[in-house]
Amino acid sequence: MQLWEQDGGSDAHADAFADIEELVQRCQYRDCTHGKREHGCAIKSALARGELDAGRYENYLKTGRELARIARKEQIAARKNLTPAQNRLRNKQERRSGKHSSQSWE
Ligand SMILES: [Zn+2]
Repeated sequence: MQLWEQDGGSDAHADAFADIEELVQRCQYRDCTHGKREHGCAIKSALARGELDAGRYENYLKTGRELARIARKEQIAARKNLTPAQNRLRNKQERRSGKHSSQSWE
């Protein structure tokens, strides 16, 4: 018996596609695209054996892309939050310190 307790994981998506997530983790390639040219890919062989429904996998990919897009949006928003005016200030400081115009006398 197995319990799927993943706190803080990403929620509904992971739940609905738990079996696919497992296959992804079993896949030997770290950055596998699980696509056309991946030999030995767990996803691909599951698809080939009919253990994984292609339509569901499509769905999984689509949902994953959606999540990635949302995550990226949040990242951009967070960066924007950081600094319009502060950025300008930092640029000024960098320019000044790059010049080495004032040296300390000994
Ligand atoms: Zn793969």
